[in-house]
Amino acid sequence: MSMHSNNKPAADAPSEQLSKGDDGQDWSQDLALASTLFDGLARDGADTPGITRDSYGDGEERAHARIAALARQWDLEVRTDAALNLYVTFPGRDRTSPVAMTGSHLDSVPCGGNFDGAAGVVAGMTVFGRWLRNGYVPPHDCTVMAVRAEESAWFPLSYIGSKAAFGMLSGSDLDVRRSDDGRTLAARMHALGGDPESVRKGEAYLAPHAIGRFVELHIEQGPMLVERGLPVGIVTDIRGAFRFRHAQAIGEYAHSGAAVRAMRKDAMFAVAHLITMLDRDWDDAEAEGRDLVITFGRVETDPKRADFSKVPGHVSFSIDVRSIEPDTLLRMEARVRERCAEITARLGVEFDLGLQTHSKPAAMEAALRASLLEGAAKYGIPAMEMASGAGHDSAIFAGQGVPTVMIFVRNENGSHNPDEAMTMDDFASALQLLEYGMICCF
Ligand SMILES: [Zn+2]
Repeated sequence: MSMHSNNKPAADAPSEQLSKGDDGQDWSQDLALASTLFDGLARDGADTPGITRDSYGDGEERAHARIAALARQWDLEVRTDAALNLYVTFPGRDRTSPVAMTGSHLDSVPCGGNFDGAAGVVAGMTVFGRWLRNGYVPPHDCTVMAVRAEESAWFPLSYIGSKAAFGMLSGSDLDVRRSDDGRTLAARMHALGGDPESVRKGEAYLAPHAIGRFVELHIEQGPMLVERGLPVGIVTDIRGAFRFRHAQAIGEYAHSGAAVRAMRKDAMFAVAHLITMLDRDWDDAEAEGRDLVITFGRVETDPKRADFSKVPGHVSFSIDVRSIEPDTLLRMEARVRERCAEITARLGVEFDLGLQTHSKPAAMEAALRASLLEGAAKYGIPAMEMASGAGHDSAIFAGQGVPTVMIFVRNENGSHNPDEAMTMDDFASALQLLEYGMICCF
């Protein structure tokens, strides 16, 4: 019962609002709907042994069609923007207030799992289904966004859909080519009925000031929640990154027996030195309490020219450095260049780090984080706060100044593989929190 004697609708406390003639916090019917949706998406995207929902391709298209069809069946408002992101809106009592948005991406990596991305869209639709079932009307409009092309597996670009929605894609971004068939992003977008030229002009569909909040539910991609035995996490920050995807060490090929050490320019030893030096820099950063991860995901000699009896004259490699702290990223970027220069001076091996790409760290909004913690306490859901190592569309929303927060759901076996494992019990806990996060006051 509300303690307020005024006429203010008790819209801000979902459990109160939904307790009139409904089933309180019993989510069983809603979970059945969610399971049906997950099963449908899995059938549509089946690519044994996993799931493939290719960005701006048939897989993603089928997933979008399924969500749009359900929204139309429910008489909700369905819109798409020039980049074909899908927006399903549940009208609120006050249609002029800023909208509360949720959602995530519907694309997947090739042969990935069914939950990465899709869980956030299914969650939003499940909450809407529950409201329809209970005759609940939220205080303000709520929108589920099914974001296009978040995964950079298909196009060499992250967050395509959410960037396009805010008018953040640059002209040349539309000309990147898909990794499998080489068609451009613009061509693929156009073929599906989108308007790439509007996207190219930077025309925004979303206005940050019109969005009251963005709450994204996503499976956890690391092992933390499993290790701690907790169903959900509340994200504090999303790590930013800088990457050298195509770096090279250039030395000289020589006979492995005849070349004397002082004369060698061994590109592999040079990269090995770089790795160990940065490993020590990582130790130092950790000792200072900094957040940092460093990955050399690819280190390779040229299979045509390298052999066991040759000093390797060329190594190509990648460096991916991530942190939630902008100054740590800047410092490490300088450190990478310093270390390369030191190694060049010592071994005579040159480095060409190639094109550098960046993404900014994003802090989740403090008041929303506090609200979700409050919601977790209210419903007795064990939760912890944690940083997100992986990037998400939420980083784009936060970067635009939209109050943003993420809910992570416990998931075994990581993500981007067919073995992603989220239980519906954990999903139910996250749904409760999502509903709370969509309509609570803060
Ligand atoms: Zn994802």
